[in-house]
Amino acid sequence: MSLTCPNCRVGVMRKHDFHNQTVDYCEQCEGVWFDSGELDQALSIADNNDDNVTIEHHLGDQLGPSLHSCTRCKQSLIRYNLMNEFTVQIDTCPSCAGVWIDKAELDRVVLSPIIKDALEVLNKKVSVKSWFFQILSQMPVEYNVKPKRLPYATYALLVINIVLFMAYFIPSGLMHNVLDTFALRSDLILAGKQPWTLISHMFLHGGFMHLIGNIYFLYIIGDNLEDALGSWRFIGLYLLCGLAAAGLQIVSDPNSTIAMVGASGAIAGLFGMYLLWFRHASLSLMIIVYQKKVSPMVFFIIWLALNFIGMFVAVQNGDEGVAYWAHIGGFLAGLIFGFALRNNVMANNPLLRMLNSKEVKIQR
Ligand SMILES: [Zn+2]
Ligand SMILES: [Zn+2]
Repeated sequence: MSLTCPNCRVGVMRKHDFHNQTVDYCEQCEGVWFDSGELDQALSIADNNDDNVTIEHHLGDQLGPSLHSCTRCKQSLIRYNLMNEFTVQIDTCPSCAGVWIDKAELDRVVLSPIIKDALEVLNKKVSVKSWFFQILSQMPVEYNVKPKRLPYATYALLVINIVLFMAYFIPSGLMHNVLDTFALRSDLILAGKQPWTLISHMFLHGGFMHLIGNIYFLYIIGDNLEDALGSWRFIGLYLLCGLAAAGLQIVSDPNSTIAMVGASGAIAGLFGMYLLWFRHASLSLMIIVYQKKVSPMVFFIIWLALNFIGMFVAVQNGDEGVAYWAHIGGFLAGLIFGFALRNNVMANNPLLRMLNSKEVKIQR
């Protein structure tokens, strides 16, 4: 007896090998019927970091009767979320416990154990530990998946920034020479002098807190971006954002004789890309003593607003200590690269693409 497809009702069901399980597959709509137990078996064999999947008995919320009926018992199927935090929908039979999965959902169901692991990290709650960390350091805690491989380029940038900063402490007035030669000055650049400072200034820092703030953000955000982009593209974009930052700073005050240093502009560029590609990540915000996870979008919009306020206050007071235009320039460059490369990055990173889908529910 040939079975009819519960979805399209016209397709003929054929036997088909799906991750070493013989399942019933519709030639017409390409959905798959799993008899009871077959889905767990297939997902356990599939390459998804979990060899003992038990999802059939741990589905998410029930969503009511489905329009499909069971291919074996002809009863109306019941629709479920695969998991409550990953609301891919599947249908199961209340009588024989078979499962129907539409073609569009198959890949996501196969990779669901990976999503489940990722969500354990992403949905972690703020804790006493994270609270103390942020109160003492004034730095946000990042909630994001670990990169697939070691972020060598990020580490290299961290080391270069730290080593060059330490070089300041070698006696003999070296610091002055370093700043004279490698910091960026608008007036000199526009006069065609010291063009290398467009790059070199990004690796110098004016003070310990300036360095710490920058390398901390580079450390938490750089690894994920490098993972998404590959090391060389990551370095390239980092430098381009730094150049855009320097460019806007120069344009904003062409006659300035102030020496500008710091990775802030390049790192602000990373913020722009991060908020577009890692909407599932969270950063913690400390509101006086109340710690709250927020999306990168919210976090960096607040950061941008603080930059505009800081700039306004600085203009009022004639203070030129912080290169706000560089932050804004780097950030805008990051947003532009983020939009331009989004499809490419998502196409190359299946997990990132899935985590960005609306089916993934993030708890903050
Ligand atoms: Zn069908
Ligand atoms: Zn049934």
